[in-house]
Amino acid sequence: MVIGELDNLPDCEERATLFFEYESAVAEYSRTVTFLYKRIGTLPRDVYKETDEFCDQARVRAEDCRIALEEHTLRHG
Ligand SMILES: [Zn+2]
Repeated sequence: MVIGELDNLPDCEERATLFFEYESAVAEYSRTVTFLYKRIGTLPRDVYKETDEFCDQARVRAEDCRIALEEHTLRHG
């Protein structure tokens, strides 16, 4: 399943919501990775650890959203 293929499916409000959540989670993850990458070695250890944990949570959330989106899309048949 490629996310781009979803464009060919019929309109569905729930799917649109799931997709929006997925996109937001990915964007959040991406922003956090960029933040960490730019500041690696300059952040205090505890701040780095905290941000790294937040980053991990964003990644897990993005993955959960992707799975929810795929499962919902499969139910469309
Ligand atoms: Zn649907």
